[in-house]
Amino acid sequence: MKKIIKSDEEWKRYLTPEQYKIARGKGTESPFCGLLNDNKKPGIYYCVCCALPLFTSKQKFISGTGWPSFFEPFNPKHVATSIDDSFGMRRTEILCARCDAHLGHVFPDGPKPTGMRYCVNSDALSFMQDSSLAEQGTDIQKATFGAGCFWHVEEEFAKIKGVVSTSVGFMGGETRYPTYKEVCTGNTGHAEVIHLEFDPKEVSYQKLLGIFWKNHDPTTLNRQGPDVGSQYRSVIFFHNAEQEKTARESKDRLEKSGTFKSGIVTEIKPATEFFRAEDYHQRYAQKHGATCKF
Ligand SMILES: [Zn+2]
Repeated sequence: MKKIIKSDEEWKRYLTPEQYKIARGKGTESPFCGLLNDNKKPGIYYCVCCALPLFTSKQKFISGTGWPSFFEPFNPKHVATSIDDSFGMRRTEILCARCDAHLGHVFPDGPKPTGMRYCVNSDALSFMQDSSLAEQGTDIQKATFGAGCFWHVEEEFAKIKGVVSTSVGFMGGETRYPTYKEVCTGNTGHAEVIHLEFDPKEVSYQKLLGIFWKNHDPTTLNRQGPDVGSQYRSVIFFHNAEQEKTARESKDRLEKSGTFKSGIVTEIKPATEFFRAEDYHQRYAQKHGATCKF
């Protein structure tokens, strides 16, 4: 795996002071205080620094120690170990294999089937709800839209009743687990996307399409205002045949309505693997009060 190396100054810019202290400074959060300790939602736990997936809800258990605990990683290649002799004891430190973020420690006192306990700080993780990992069947559906810079558009979807979770990231390219910087070169083939989960009993896909059309310009090829490049392309990634049909009909209707002077260039394509963007991009507009230049 290609390493991600940044200076301390850069990490400070991307992380909150608490995240920096834990992930870059090998800190430990107080037990029972981390936001993810009791989290029982289905989903994926990513590295807070570089967005590599590290654990999922399927490997999580409540250990009673006060820290999120997992019996094995999502992928053993994504978690590295190192001997830690600090505080007069020998422990095995766990780190993100890509960016060397400190995650916590691993102990041989976990449950079956591995007998291991990966004890991780909440602040070293970024969580994304994924209802397809739920123990029982679910009616929750996914929807994915590319509408230029993802910061502002995420907020428009997040405030809709029936939208259960939103994430920003990348889809439609070649590179697996790309960084934002790599996507911005235009060489990965990915589009910036908003990836969300919604409850079809509360909000229709049709309504989500309406928000998508309203919040960007679907007539400019590979461009939204001053943002130029294929990563800003207008695209609908459908997750099933019904979504595809609804999206195509919606595009045809809009085209015929004469709302836009020029033709709609929006692509309608089958969804491929979603790669989440780094934590500091998530709910960016909400956190920073800033919206896109567009
Ligand atoms: Zn990482």
